[in-house]
Amino acid sequence: MAFSFDATALQEWVRSYAAAIDKAADQLTELDSAIGDADHGSNMRRGMTAVVAALDEKQPATPKAVLTTVASTLISKVGGASGPLYGTLFLRMGSSAGDADTLDAHRFAAALHAGLDGVVARGKAEKDDKTMYDALAPAVETLETEISSGQDLSKALTAAATAAAAGRDATTALQARKGRASYLGERSIGHQDPGATSLALLIETAAQTAQDST
Ligand code: ADP
Ligand code: MG
Repeated sequence: MAFSFDATALQEWVRSYAAAIDKAADQLTELDSAIGDADHGSNMRRGMTAVVAALDEKQPATPKAVLTTVASTLISKVGGASGPLYGTLFLRMGSSAGDADTLDAHRFAAALHAGLDGVVARGKAEKDDKTMYDALAPAVETLETEISSGQDLSKALTAAATAAAAGRDATTALQARKGRASYLGERSIGHQDPGATSLALLIETAAQTAQDST
């Protein structure tokens, strides 16, 4: 059977994201020290550690419950720009999931698209502003294109992860127009965006979760 995200698979994804963030935290902070205030790694690590603890405690049993647990934990534990932005991403995914027991390819893509819309509603980022949007938007676009051409969710997510990584890499050449990095003006050019870097990991771990269970 084709892979889809039920509550268990969503928890696996979120837990593997927490592990990836833990591993990448020093790199994320280093990136943020170049164009921000050197806290993106510690922000995300603190948030995702709290998310894992909340999942352990609540064991949410539906997709919506998993996603809203992630959202509320990130919003309450992570200050700075990234907490509310990631929180909104997961909150909108949860609303999109509704009362579904499992998110198949179409529902997962719709949820991620709703998450992207939430990030935009909250942060007003546009393409090439050098933010997490520049990794997330191409991931959503690729996911939708692959799925509408009949690709299964696992393969579509692998393609989406490649698109997110390319979007992340492309932030290096951009001048920041949103967030703290924008205060640097032209001096923000030449540095990879920390939020796009953590966001690419989010899609990569989703693809990995799908691959591991198919
Ligand atoms: P802060 O900037 O408050 O210290 P973090 O360091 O945790 O928060 O996160 C910084 C990241 O947040 C940036 O690298 C960027 O990707 C993302 N970001 C900042 N502002 C916005 C925005 N308005 N829209 C989307 N993403 C943003
Ligand atoms: Mg910061």
